[in-house]
Amino acid sequence: MNHSAFSDTVLAWYEQHGRKHLPWQQDITPYRVWVSEIMLQQTQVATVIPYYERFMTSFPDVHSLAAASQDDVLHHWTGLGYYARGRNLHKCAQTVVNDHKGEFPRSVEGLAALPGIGRSTAGAIASISMGIRAPILDGNVKRVLTRFYAVSGWPGTKSTENALWDIASKLTPDHSHQQYTQAMMDLGATLCTRSKPACGICPLQPDCDGFAEGNPTQYPNSKPKKEKPVKTTVMLIIEQTGKGILLRQRPQTGIWGGLWSFPEVETINDALPLLQREVGHEHANVEQLGSFRHTFSHYHLDITPIHLTLNRLPTLVQEDSVHWYNNDSKSAIGLAAPVKKLLNLITREQP
Ligand code: SF4
Repeated sequence: MNHSAFSDTVLAWYEQHGRKHLPWQQDITPYRVWVSEIMLQQTQVATVIPYYERFMTSFPDVHSLAAASQDDVLHHWTGLGYYARGRNLHKCAQTVVNDHKGEFPRSVEGLAALPGIGRSTAGAIASISMGIRAPILDGNVKRVLTRFYAVSGWPGTKSTENALWDIASKLTPDHSHQQYTQAMMDLGATLCTRSKPACGICPLQPDCDGFAEGNPTQYPNSKPKKEKPVKTTVMLIIEQTGKGILLRQRPQTGIWGGLWSFPEVETINDALPLLQREVGHEHANVEQLGSFRHTFSHYHLDITPIHLTLNRLPTLVQEDSVHWYNNDSKSAIGLAAPVKKLLNLITREQP
């Protein structure tokens, strides 16, 4: 399907099935289209309609909006969510009044330079209210285009987004600018929906690559999940018979801040020098226990525990941050989860 066949098909569908009676499709002005576009971001049409009508009654033009107090504007926004939109709307109205004599700039670039107006919203205002040829790429259009052309890659990445802008620009016809923009929005909102696209009645279906592949909802591709990095540590479970197991309090910041944990070293070969440093003793029975993984929100920690049983009393340990864990101290101190697990294993208790 060439570009003009695509736009002809979409326009013909719109002519027959598109929505033409929404409040912002009447008495079209840049102001009215702009307010609707901002309200429709992340919000369904049915939710927006009553807000839009109340808003237009209170602030019928850009001058009345610019002159209102921010409280009053946000009061009209209450319940719509994403309040930065309301604040930006107010700021933008003041910019239009103060810097543009109350007239919205008549170009995509000029509109996109205003507070809270991105390239796609600027394209929608320019095409719908000014009859300028301008592509849009809102969520609906991204969905239609990624499915129709089976565009892989998450649209949040610059390269995929640029490729989609390129496609959207090429498909935008030289005529019927207002209708084409509305048609693309409607097609995405009513047929090519997020989870249940109505491919059976879609006019683009005969040439839709996503449909032909059999699984159009895989487009647009989701944000790739980041692989969590893996870190490793060796935990030293230093046990003195009759005294307990040696724990140290962790620094207040960082993982397990302020909790009690075993001394740690990076590699098994570092273990004995550390033991000597910690307890002034180098003779011990050493047993390596099975490694296991503890997962944090941002990384995996592979833990290798080494159980060291001292065969005679160590020299005096004087540091305040050292604690000998035994039956008396069980519930008195905070323990990190893997530490608790290992202590339970060593003391033959179940978690
Ligand atoms: S055929 Fe299905 S997937 Fe393709 S554009 Fe139409 S509704 Fe979307």
